[in-house]
Amino acid sequence: MKILVFGETGQVARALAVAGPAHGITVHTLNRTQSDLSDPAACAAAIMATDADAVINAAAWTAVDAAEVQEDAAQIINADSPGAMAQACATRGLPFVHISTDYVFDGTPGAPWTPAAPTGPLGAYGRTKLAGERAVLDAGGTAVVLRTAWVFDGQGKNFVTTMLRLSETRDALNVVADQTGGPTPADAIADACLTIAQKLLDGIGQGGIHHFSGTPDVSWADFARAIFATAGRVVTVTDITTADYPTTAARPANSRLDCSSLTASFGIARPDWQAALDRIITETQP
Ligand code: NDP
Repeated sequence: MKILVFGETGQVARALAVAGPAHGITVHTLNRTQSDLSDPAACAAAIMATDADAVINAAAWTAVDAAEVQEDAAQIINADSPGAMAQACATRGLPFVHISTDYVFDGTPGAPWTPAAPTGPLGAYGRTKLAGERAVLDAGGTAVVLRTAWVFDGQGKNFVTTMLRLSETRDALNVVADQTGGPTPADAIADACLTIAQKLLDGIGQGGIHHFSGTPDVSWADFARAIFATAGRVVTVTDITTADYPTTAARPANSRLDCSSLTASFGIARPDWQAALDRIITETQP
């Protein structure tokens, strides 16, 4: 089996390239030069020309704050191109897996969000990702929109690598404690996407929107404490509120995702983020 992946340098795209062989899948990644998501027609053309059996979109405009001032550009990358990809996949009869985000929700504290829960993005990034979800599902092919949250690996620009870097020069940090979510290892997302693609190709599993995030849900502050404890760094973490740490784009307070439909439909369980953290720190920290 061969899978075409949009994205090559990102956290999930890199993990897909590594995970492919373990699934017995040849993964063909496309970087920005080979297929620019600023050009929806070029993305569709890449799919029309591929000999792959399924397609995964792991590329996106992920600069949340920058999207506030460049929403038109983000809209093309996060919505128009995924829509064009989904239409080309529908035309070719290829299963399509598209990754989306907890930022489609307004973050009102409460229960974890189900896939059917009402959306209400707080900012431009979430709006463009939500438009992408709709464009993908409207294309009418065999598609899964996989919403995830708080993605990390050992080398990308993410919360784990940021905390580890800060711990080299700081012995105390203030970290937001009123946002909660499930930190999600990029390699677990890659495994999930490959399993979904494989099962869709075999006619197994329900298309549409599913959720996937790591377990257990935590606050950023508690996640920071876990990172320092795992790495053996002595850093005092003080809880602060979102209001104490203003950002250009608002972040959802509640990013917790109800992942039960993915388990029911595809047999994929939530990954244990602590196990992934242990592995990453062993591999990357001196
Ligand atoms: P990264 O930010 O690590 O990588 C983004 C990827 O998209 C890079 O490979 C980048 O390539 C590529 N890309 C951006 N613009 C273009 C373009 N115009 N043409 C082609 N490629 C482009 O993303 P992640 O791996 O973290 O995210 C994967 C998915 O998960 C995305 O859909 C994201 O929305 C979603 N997600 C991510 C979360 C997170 O915490 N990171 C949380 C929830 C969902 P280049 O290096 O050339 O810029």
